Amino acid sequence: MKIIVGNWKMNGTPELLDEMIGALGELHTENRVFLCVPYTMLRSGNVAVMIGAQNVSKYDSGAHTGEISAEMVAAAGASVTLVGHSECRKEQQDTNADVAKRAGLAIKNNLLPIICVGETAEERDAGLTYKIIEQGVRESVPANASNGGFIIAYEPRWAIGAGITPTKEQIAEAHKIIRDVLNEMGFEETPILYGASVTAANSADIMGIENVDGVLVGGASLKKDDFIPIIQSVK
Ligand code: PEP
Repeated sequence: MKIIVGNWKMNGTPELLDEMIGALGELHTENRVFLCVPYTMLRSGNVAVMIGAQNVSKYDSGAHTGEISAEMVAAAGASVTLVGHSECRKEQQDTNADVAKRAGLAIKNNLLPIICVGETAEERDAGLTYKIIEQGVRESVPANASNGGFIIAYEPRWAIGAGITPTKEQIAEAHKIIRDVLNEMGFEETPILYGASVTAANSADIMGIENVDGVLVGGASLKKDDFIPIIQSVK
């Protein structure tokens, strides 16, 4: 059983979501499928797909115009949320401490947070990849996290939406570091996903790598003909 998460980013329509949910409903798979959609398309999930958000506010409630709280996301039917996605870290200057606040509020409101960590191209070139990943995990996991009560997604930021993926060895090394850090923190049951430029052509190979418990899929999650073969590529 693997975990396959789609991230629609700022794309899609309610009609497209209806179509995707319908197609996923006809699938026979043991894999767990989550779809993280824009806030306006949130709704309750079903057995075929759990619906999630792409972020939650780092504030509980109050005077934060334009923000959406974890409580609101949960009330809208979501069961999961991304936090710390590369695009949020870049466009909203989210730090690990901000991500920990978001993830903490997600957990408090019974949402399963998928905490994204990963290095930029500059950080990789400077030899900082493993430091960034380790710090990302240590500092972004909130104090109220429980073993298995959250997911980590390793997303090399230079590969997201770029049509390039790291080598198998690079993915294996990064996931081993994350697994070791999680074990040390007492979170042995926490799944680790790989994300960045996953397609049906590489998904089975990637999910065959040790310590890869599933994938986070951006562009290829928007069309059922791209997304479903990824789900079907593994048992
Ligand atoms: C993502 O948005 O998390 C992502 C992995 O995007 P893509 O699959 O398009 O690289």
